[in-house]
Amino acid sequence: MKLQNGGEYIQSLRALKPVIYYKGKRIDDVTRHPATAPHVRAAAMTYALAAKEKYRELATATSHLTGHTISRFTHVHQNIEDLIKKVKLLRVLGQKTGTCFQRCVGFDGINAVYSVAYEIDEKLGTDYLQRFNRWLTHIQDDNRMVVGAMTDPKGDRSKSPADQSDPDQYVHITERRPDGIVIRGAKLHMTGAVNSHEILVMPTTAMNEASKDYAVVCAVPIDAPGVTMVFGRQANDDRRDRKERIDVGKPSFGAVGGEALLVFEDVFVPIENVFMDGEIEFTGDLVYRFAAHHRANYGACKTGLMDVLIGAVSYLSLIQGTAKGSHVRDKVTEMTHLSETLYSSSIACSAEGWPTASGAYMVDTMLANVCKQNVTRFHFEVARLALDLAGGFIATLPSQHDFENEDVGHLVRKYFSGVTEIPTEDRVKIARMIEAMTGGTALVESMHGAGSPQAQRIMIYREGKLAEKIKLAKRLAGIIDPDD
Ligand code: SF4
Ligand code: FE
Repeated sequence: MKLQNGGEYIQSLRALKPVIYYKGKRIDDVTRHPATAPHVRAAAMTYALAAKEKYRELATATSHLTGHTISRFTHVHQNIEDLIKKVKLLRVLGQKTGTCFQRCVGFDGINAVYSVAYEIDEKLGTDYLQRFNRWLTHIQDDNRMVVGAMTDPKGDRSKSPADQSDPDQYVHITERRPDGIVIRGAKLHMTGAVNSHEILVMPTTAMNEASKDYAVVCAVPIDAPGVTMVFGRQANDDRRDRKERIDVGKPSFGAVGGEALLVFEDVFVPIENVFMDGEIEFTGDLVYRFAAHHRANYGACKTGLMDVLIGAVSYLSLIQGTAKGSHVRDKVTEMTHLSETLYSSSIACSAEGWPTASGAYMVDTMLANVCKQNVTRFHFEVARLALDLAGGFIATLPSQHDFENEDVGHLVRKYFSGVTEIPTEDRVKIARMIEAMTGGTALVESMHGAGSPQAQRIMIYREGKLAEKIKLAKRLAGIIDPDD
């Protein structure tokens, strides 16, 4: 692995020149800009863990392509153990950052594209897997961060990609040359894009015959000519000033993944980096495999966040002298029960994993959808309970400037104090972290990341084996089934 730790990852980003806008201005260095640096540090943790003996087993893997030791985030799952190790790794990373560390999107994209490229080649005699493996070997050996780029803007949702009045509402091929293709369009909500090295472009939905130019999978360097990003504003991002560290809540890391609009304006992609070109019949499987892998993650990464939140309210209860209250214990128990239920789901869909024709392992798709569906509820309930326990004080928190002010500093210290042995500033720091982890943009990802709740409900219904269940019921009720 070329990039051995977090510091080397951060250095490697400084050598790139991606075009990124934020609040109407160019960001020249994502590693130092206050809006993006916290997200860079969160992603850097995926590199840092691989360098630590304690986590090496989880954070690294052996490449099935080269036999080299690689970051698990660039690995193709070879068995159930790999799937389970991934889940355990994500929980640890959630605990260490308290936020989205972004790198799983590319990881899941790699795994989805690998198995589908194999199947396209098997059926159509193409050489996509060979191209993909060449690209992946370079990603593994250099330990590059990949952003999985799936969600298109979609324009008028009632129309298919080819029927849009603006053809750019879905990423599509505008030109085919002997040595490559040219793509145009955009991807939305791109977690970790601004601090990735490479983009893995994938279609966002199953395509029909008329939408052949939209069935494209390819890899593009983040600073390729024609790629532009607009980084999204987040709640309270102006607080990320060095002078306002207490007010940020979680000074080192962001509250969410750091999402961007990613635009391709006639970007040339050399043929060796094209892994699907028009094979519409495989687009549905690709999207579904990516989504299932990503949905399986949420009971792990978000459980790590909930561990932090449970720790925060428990500590706040100690500071406030309420820790022994039976209702406090009961609510902490409920938070723990909900978060461990989610974790069980992630472990379960990994334990029930299965080999695709390529040999790469998939999670159980039904259980992965159930896992993510539960995250869209339980994480919110855990956040609700955290705010319940924290108290209305969260809405009145003074800023760091008030603590430092000669006239009111002593007043906020006195009237926001809890038990005498813990400084008031510590109470405010913990409360600010609870505010950051429960409000603003913090929970949007738990609702819409890896697909909105309705996307999971569609799949849960589709995979619910209703015909089989009707048979079970009829048989036990003594109803004769002529087909049985
Ligand atoms: Fe990884 Fe979770 Fe962030 Fe998705 S939401 S990229 S699974 S940390
Ligand atoms: Fe996500």
